[in-house]
Order: sequence, then structure tokens, then C-alpha cells
Amino acid sequence: MAKSLSNGKNIILVTGGSGLVGQALKKMAAEENRQDEEWFFAASSDADLTDRDQTRKLFEKVGPTHVIHLAAMVGGLFKNLKYNLDFYRKNILINDNVLQTSHERGVKKVVSCLSTCIFPDKTTYPINETMIHDGPPHSSNFGYAYAKRMIDVQNRAYNQQYGSNFTAIIPTNVFGPHDNYNLEDSHVIPGLIHKCYIAKRDGTPLTIWGTGKPLRQFIYSDDLARLIIWTLRDYPEIDPIILSVDEQAEISIKDAAEMVVAAMDFKGQVIYDSTKSDGQFKKTASNDKLRKYLPNFQFTQIEKAIKESCDWFVKNYDVARK
Ligand code: NAP
Ligand code: GDP
Repeated sequence: MAKSLSNGKNIILVTGGSGLVGQALKKMAAEENRQDEEWFFAASSDADLTDRDQTRKLFEKVGPTHVIHLAAMVGGLFKNLKYNLDFYRKNILINDNVLQTSHERGVKKVVSCLSTCIFPDKTTYPINETMIHDGPPHSSNFGYAYAKRMIDVQNRAYNQQYGSNFTAIIPTNVFGPHDNYNLEDSHVIPGLIHKCYIAKRDGTPLTIWGTGKPLRQFIYSDDLARLIIWTLRDYPEIDPIILSVDEQAEISIKDAAEMVVAAMDFKGQVIYDSTKSDGQFKKTASNDKLRKYLPNFQFTQIEKAIKESCDWFVKNYDVARK
């Protein structure tokens, strides 16, 4: 039985609690320090969620009334290109274990995490929440994309069959402290921060992969964390919601790279390697639904957010995931 019944608190289990988004949530929850909530941030060392027994034991130990489900095999374009099968299988297993165990234990609400990179490759813009299943995803990440799409299918099916309140958020590209800063497998901003750090240290050029022309909407992990907490407490729908900056805030990879260069105070040569993949050209998302609920939500200015991420990486170089 859920612990909240004995002490009146909501017990919130965050899967993927050791990752980029999980750590931002941890910071926000600590800042709020609400007396009616108890948070548990699970790492993969607490339970391998691809394993049903370990998943059940974790839920037994924590006794969640609410679940924020972030755990996933995650990676940038170049990791996705290499491991489509692993992305599909691991994420299908993790998601099925977390959702089914939440159902078995009577969890009151689950918020799971999709991504704007799971939308159809051939589409009209801006994309919105109704278009997830309208056509095949980009070929670079079809394993990840189909596994994530199935969360939406399961949420609707749990609701239809059992009345469950399982919903999902759809963030755009996230970055911030505690990101994966690996040189090969990370997302673009953490990858470029690490590359820039090395170029500055060694006096070598900074190489940006692809042409720099693709467009992205980046969201700072602190902003996303605040929106996830709102989703958990106040978003009433089963249908997913895109959590994104406004369409006008979309920038090119070149713009993002220049912000990293400025924040790192890098004065060396910058090269574009156009033999490397550009991936999806754009995935411009509409945040109209979010704006209807939260018209006044203020996103952190991207230059400030990139500067904070660079400063965090430099300060935590020895311990950062890389
Ligand atoms: P991340 O930093 O790579 O963190 C992934 C988290 O998942 C880590 O806490 C990791 O645990 C956990 N995890 C992975 N495999 C696991 C397993 N088998 N069992 C238990 N835990 C496991 O990723 P993130 O960027 O925070 O992503 C969080 C969510 O946001 C994911 O669902 C992702 O798909 C989604 N998302 C991310 C982005 C983005 O740009 N980063 C964009 C859109 C959506 P350990 O570290 O302890 O191993
Ligand atoms: P995506 O938004 O899902 O495609 O994922 P990424 O965060 O990996 O961004 C990929 C885009 O950034 C592509 O256009 C890449 O060519 C470009 N890019 C430039 N340099 C890098 C880098 O060092 N790492 C990554 N992951 N992408 C880079």
C-alpha cells in the first residue's frame, strides 16, 4: 500500500533521477522543500529498470504515490545512428516495467517523457501534440522514436482499460548541468562544451559536426524541471504536452556553437566538418498548448543558460559524465 496513506504525504519517485533532467528536478524540489511531498531520485544503481523484478523491488521500497518517469537509454544523433536496436529494446523494457508496476501498485499519476525527435520526419511545421503517430520518424533514431511513441499508446490504453492517470511530456532538446558530456555520444551542446574545453586547453581547433545549418529549440534543464513539477501537480490531460520554448526562440546549430564559444571565451579556430551527418534539419514544435495553460512562463535566456552549463562543466570537470 502506498506510504502516503500512512503519513499523508505524496511520495514522488523519479526514475532517471541521476541524469540531466533528474538532477535539475532534484534541485528544484530541494529549493521548494514542500512538507507535503517526499521525493526519491532513483539511479540505475538503485534498480535496473529493464528488469521487472528489480523494478518491482524499487517500487516496493519507495512506495510511490506519483512517478516521474525519466529513465531511458538516451543519446545524441551519433549514438542513435549506431544503436537503433538497443534504443528500441531497452526503452521498451524500461517503459513497460515502469508503467505496469505503477499500475499494479495503484500509483495515482505517472508523468513519462517523450521527445520532439520522435515526430514524423515528413511533416508540416510547427509540429503539435496530435501528430506523434502520423508517419515514420527520421531514420537516424527510429529505434528510440518508436519505443517512445509506445508510451503514448500505453498511457491511453491504461486510461481506457483502468482509468489510470498516466500522461507524458514532450521536451525539445534539453541541456544543463549534470548532462552527458561524452565527446562522441552526447547531445550537441554538452558535446560542444567539452570539445571547446579541450580545444582551449590544447590550443587546437574546435570542430563542429555537420554544416551548422539545422535548427533546434533548446530548453534549459532548470526550466524543464519547473514545467515537469507543474505537469505533475496541475496538468489534467492524458494526452501529452510539448514543453518547449517559443517558435521564435529556435536557433541554428551554428548559433548554439557561437554561444558556447563565447561562454567558454574560446579564441581559436572553429571548423565545420560537413562530412558528418546533420540529422533532422528541423523539428520546430508549437508550444501553443503549454502557453494556453501557462501564458506567462518565463524561460531562461539561452546565453545565460549556456554560460551556466559551461561554468558547471569547467568546475566539475573531474566528476562530470564524459
Ligand atoms: P540522461 O542524463 O542520460 O539520464 C538518463 C537516466 O536514465 C539516468 O538517470 C540513468 O541512470 C537512467 N537509466 C538509464 N538506463 C537505465 C536503466 N536500465 N535502469 C534504470 N535507470 C536507467 O538523460 P536525460 O537527458 O536526463 O533524459 C531524461 C529523459 O528526458 C529521457 O526519458 C529522455 O528520453 C528525455 N529527453 C531528453 C532530451 C535531451 O535532450 N536530453 C530531450 C527530450 C527528451 P544512471 O545514470 O544512474 O545509469
Ligand atoms: P538531435 O537534435 O536529436 O539531432 O541531437 P543532437 O543534440 O545530437 O544534435 C545534432 C545536431 O547537432 C546535428 O545537426 C549535428 O550535426 C550537430 N552537431 C554539431 N556538433 C555536434 C557534436 O559535437 N555532437 C552532436 N551530438 N551533434 C553535433
